[in-house]
Amino acid sequence: MRNIDTEPRAVPLFRNIHEHPQAPYDVAALRRTVRILDTQVRDKPLTYLDNAATTQKPQSVIDAVSSFYAADNANVHRGVHLLSQRATEAYEDARETLRTFINAPNLREMIFTRGATESINLVAHSWGYANLAPGDEILITHMEHHSNIVPWQIVAQTTGAKLVVAPVNDRGELDMQAYQNLLGPQTRMVAATHVSNSIGTINPIKEIAALAHDAGALVLADGAQAVPHMAVDVQDLNVDFYVFSGHKMYGPTGIGVLWGKEHLLRDMPPYQSGGDMILSVDFEKTTYNSLPYKFEAGTPNIAGAVGLAEAVRVMQGIGMDAIEAWEQDLLTYATGKLHTVPGLEIVGEATNKAAVISFTIEGIHPHDVGTILDREGVAVRTGHHCTQPLMKRFGIPATTRMSLGMYSTPEDIDALVEALLKVVEVFES
Ligand code: PMP
Repeated sequence: MRNIDTEPRAVPLFRNIHEHPQAPYDVAALRRTVRILDTQVRDKPLTYLDNAATTQKPQSVIDAVSSFYAADNANVHRGVHLLSQRATEAYEDARETLRTFINAPNLREMIFTRGATESINLVAHSWGYANLAPGDEILITHMEHHSNIVPWQIVAQTTGAKLVVAPVNDRGELDMQAYQNLLGPQTRMVAATHVSNSIGTINPIKEIAALAHDAGALVLADGAQAVPHMAVDVQDLNVDFYVFSGHKMYGPTGIGVLWGKEHLLRDMPPYQSGGDMILSVDFEKTTYNSLPYKFEAGTPNIAGAVGLAEAVRVMQGIGMDAIEAWEQDLLTYATGKLHTVPGLEIVGEATNKAAVISFTIEGIHPHDVGTILDREGVAVRTGHHCTQPLMKRFGIPATTRMSLGMYSTPEDIDALVEALLKVVEVFES
């Protein structure tokens, strides 16, 4: 039998947790366009709280992909025939939509990739191999996703550069003083997540970038968990590279973006080579294509780009500020309600958080929590969330993570908390 604290906890002064927050837009109407949310799982209505892993797609996104294949499908950039022109137009229009989404200064800086992972690998390999040498340092944070650790580690091993890690405090925030102390003339690249996928911390990327630039380093921000939750302006953040994945922002899988400053991208060698990234090839010498095509070797995910652009239009139609405000209200509501579950500890209580909450329940393994929640129709993620070093920092192997999206509701949170109380009951008996 598990020994749990049965005393009700002091609930932080968030809001009356019995009172549902009110949305600034019509969430019910939005949910009707995301039909999978209406699914029954294990004979229960689905409560989808795994948005940090991937988001569900509005019907217009699915329709955009489907009608591209049904009406416009052809390969891009190569054909003079009408369909090829239409496909090229759709693909390049999608690039423009994505440009406006992050306020990038020009289209040459907008590279379509498979997602955040490929974007980071592109920079680590292309920029890293061309620029790093023994004695150089790549500075990351303790809260990075494995995809913003391992590529740098591999490049460091090969070039003789060193991977340095800025620490995180007990609240799950980057220790800014320690970060500043680690910066120096040896720092060539700072690679930091904008929002932590496992504990939700929002990093002060603008300040991180300014300090890095003062030290003469470049900055790559991993925006995979930021772009679904808040307006992002890469010019205002003044980072050098910004990466994200389409599927975490209501778009299709297999499509994402690398944004980079033009003068840096211009000087970087190709990452992959083949068709579309060349201007001319003969056996003696190849001339590379201009930006962004130099980094888009092979046939791209055209339908994915079209679907992602539609996802952006859906989000822009609601407004990123409205989405952020709603999710912040839900986050506050969820934080208050979760604290009422006996034995539940939230991991990561940063002052600035996006709509992601990781937690443990005393004496119950997260895998068991996830399994019982699944029986109740509640989809959350359990495990290390591809942040093993961060889990180690908190002395735990895993957490249960709930993550919200623009279509989440207070009822989703109520269903989660109700199911968690059942988990506790099962383990008490
Ligand atoms: N960075 C962060 C912060 C993430 O959350 C993820 C996905 N969990 C990634 C990078 C990798 O994204 P993808 O798997 O879509 O390439």
